[in-house]
This record gives sequence, C-alpha cells and structure tokens, in this order.
Amino acid sequence: MRADLVVVGSGLFGLTVAQQAAERGLDVVVVERRDHLGGNAWSELEPETGIEVHRYGAHLFHTSNERVWRYVNRFTSFTDYRHRVWSVRAGEVYPLPINLGTINQFFRRALGPAEARDLVARQAAEIAGEPANLEEKAISLIGRPLYEAFVRGYTAKQWQTDPTRLPASVISRLPVRYTYDNRYFNDTWQGLPTDGYAAWLTRMVDNPRIDVRLETDFLEAGHPLSRDAVRGQVPVVYTGPVDRYFDHVHGALGWRTLDFAQEVLPVGDFQGAPVLNYADDDVPHTRILEFRHFHPERDYPSDRTVVVREYSRFAEPGDEPYYPVNTPTDRERLAAYRTMVEAERTRHRVAFGGRLGSYQYLDMHMAIASALRLVDNDLDGLLGRVAPRLEVAL
Ligand code: FAD
Ligand code: UDP
Repeated sequence: MRADLVVVGSGLFGLTVAQQAAERGLDVVVVERRDHLGGNAWSELEPETGIEVHRYGAHLFHTSNERVWRYVNRFTSFTDYRHRVWSVRAGEVYPLPINLGTINQFFRRALGPAEARDLVARQAAEIAGEPANLEEKAISLIGRPLYEAFVRGYTAKQWQTDPTRLPASVISRLPVRYTYDNRYFNDTWQGLPTDGYAAWLTRMVDNPRIDVRLETDFLEAGHPLSRDAVRGQVPVVYTGPVDRYFDHVHGALGWRTLDFAQEVLPVGDFQGAPVLNYADDDVPHTRILEFRHFHPERDYPSDRTVVVREYSRFAEPGDEPYYPVNTPTDRERLAAYRTMVEAERTRHRVAFGGRLGSYQYLDMHMAIASALRLVDNDLDGLLGRVAPRLEVAL
C-alpha cells in the first residue's frame, strides 16, 4: 500500500480532503473507526419500510456558498425539499422559526408586520447593549414571553446548561421573520441528496487513488495505520476529537450526545411533518423526526412510517460526541490543545480539522468549505513540497 497522505475520519471534512488530494494525483488512505464511511451525515434504508433514516439525526443540506454548492453537485443532485419545523408547546402547535404566524398565534392577535415588530421591540427592550449570552441574545431578538415559551425549555433540554452560560452564537443561526415565511433556513440553496446521503458520500471516494479502511481506530496502538506507526512517516489530516489525540492531557472537552429511539409505526402518517420540536420541560424528548416527510417524492409504503424521538444529554466516555458545549472551562482547555496542535503540525506534519478536530459546531457546508480551504492553503506545505513560485526577472 502506498500513501502520500493519511486522512483520519471519513466525515464530510475528511472525504473532501481525500477527494481533492486524489484529484491532484496523490494516493490517499482514509482511516475510519466506524463500520461505514460518511461520518454523521450517513443514512441507511430502514429494512422493513425502505424509508431513508439519517442514522445520526436529521441532516438538511443548505448553503449560500457557491463554490460548495458547485462542489457537492459533482457527486449528487438535490431535491427541492425546503425544511420546515413546528414547535409543540402547552398543547398547541406553532410554526418555527419565530415568524408572524407564531407571534399572532401566541399573543392571540392579528398584527401586521410593523405592529408585531413594535410589540417585540418593546418586549426586547430590557436588553440594553451587546447580549452577553444565549438568554440575552434570544430576549433581544424575540422578547421575554416568546423566549420563555419557545426557547428556554427546549434549550434547557437540548443543552442541560443554563442559557446564561451558553454563547449567543448558538441561537444566532435561527432567523426571526415578520412575514408568514416559515422556511427554517435562509440560505440560497437547500435540498436533500436525490438518491440519499450514502450514495453521495460513497461517490466522493470513487477513485482508485483512495483506499478507505473501515473499523480502524487511528488512536488504537498495534496496527500499521495507527498514530504511532504513521506519525512522522507520512502527512496526516486528523478529523477525530482533538483531546483524544493528545490522550486528554489537558482534560476532556465537554460534548453533548444524543440518544435516538426509533420505531416503525403501523400508520401512513404519524405527525404530518418532518420535525416537531417539543418546547415543554416536562416532555423528555427534544423533538420527533418522521423520515418519510423528507422525501415526499419517493414511493414509500402508505401503511407504515418511521419515527425517531431525540433525547439530549452530556456525553460520557464512550458516547458519540455531537455538539461542543463550549463552557469557559472548555475554552481554556481548547487553548492549551491548540498550542499542541501547532507543534504537532510543525514537528510531525499532522493537520487537524473538522468538527471534532477543531471542537467547533460545523454544518455540512461549513465542513466542506473548511476542507477546501485546507487543500488550497495548507496541503502543499503539509506534504513538504514548495508550491511553484512565479519568478519575475527584472
Ligand atoms: P464527522 O461527520 O463527525 O466525521 C468524523 C469521522 O471521524 C467520523 O466518521 C468518526 O467515526 C471518525 N473518527 C473519529 N475518531 C477517529 C479515529 N480515532 N480513528 C478513525 N476515525 C475516527 N449539518 C448540516 O449542514 N445540516 C444539518 O441538518 C445537520 N444536522 C446535524 C444534526 C446532528 C445531530 C449533528 C451531530 C450534526 C448535524 N450537522 C448538520 C453537522 C454535520 O454532521 C457536520 O457538518 C459533519 O458531521 C462534519 O463533518 P466532519 O467530517 O467534521 O465530522
Ligand atoms: N432553539 C430553541 N427552540 C427551538 C429550536 C431551537 O430554543 O424550538 C434554540 C436552541 O437553543 C437550539 C438553537 O436554537 O440549540 C439552535 O437550533 P437548531 O435547530 O439550529 O439546532 P439544534 O441545537 O436544535 O440541533
């Protein structure tokens, strides 16, 4: 086996690096711990119904980055799916994200856009200056009554962390609209891969120069593709958890994990929508996903459906890390790991990237964009080749 580059992790970050490096003529070995490639975007068909289920939670592709959109379209086409979510609260169902429909239903009014803006502005006025955390940010956007109804309970379940200790950025990704537009995302392009995530992700490594080794943990000693065998011998792009790479010397970084309870139900339609969020504290799940609704264009059985209840909790050792918690302690530890990352890059030609390698929540399009940037800016340096320079004779 020949390798110019070893990529650890076959999520969208690792696959993009591998695909781009192979296209530049390099032989790439991708090392993946799980028994499938694709990372958390992986999906499979539920065997009894044939309904495509996203194994690690609902994945909706959306981007406004034209380069990323063109890139992903090389491997798959996309349906015209537009994501919409509703929130169940105190026995009523409201549209999300917070929009004119939500506001009027909640306040039992028939306000126009300008009146609704005034009402919310009055309720949001208690936050003066730059919001310092998620709670302040949410109140500054939607006022306290809507915050308490739709955000506080859901966020408490989702994060098990006081909203005043969470960064404002977590809520900034949700729009607030003074129209009845209830599309969940604002991005220019969105959709779901027409023939599924598995087909898309598998096509990315359909190149004889790419060798994917499944069920191979880079950090487990004693095999020829382990960290100890490879490091220093060949350049590495590592997309696993940064703290684990360094044997947790500065302590473990905090992550939340999810538990998914999947059921096949003997009905054609369980909830009439792909995702219902549950805002109340006393309902233990955060949301219910019904996967048939992600592909209304497909010929799914009309008498059975697949639903998944999602529960959130802090990750224990051995759990899948999903969302970085990012408390002040985590940020201190991360700073210490970043110093080690720099040294590892220089000394052993190991570059870190992706959601786990950078301890950063990344949407799929962000993971791809970040991987393309690594290839643009860092690959030649990592390989130890000097990029051709333009010589100008004066
Ligand atoms: P990952 O997909 O996590 O891939 C990392 C890979 O590295 C994994 O396959 C892992 O097994 C492997 N690995 C780790 N350690 C080792 C090791 N030691 N040896 C070998 N292999 C290793 N994005 C969207 O755009 N839209 C969405 O709707 C959306 N929903 C999401 C819902 C959930 C619940 C979660 C958790 C994420 C969601 N995302 C969504 C984000 C999306 O999953 C990420 O953008 C994507 O996972 C990033 O890819 P990655 O390659 O950085 O990481
Ligand atoms: N959020 C909320 N209520 C909702 C939906 C979202 O309070 O019904 C908040 C919550 O803090 C969440 C954040 O907005 O973590 C981002 O929501 P998104 O749907 O992007 O992500 P999630 O964390 O639910 O996967």
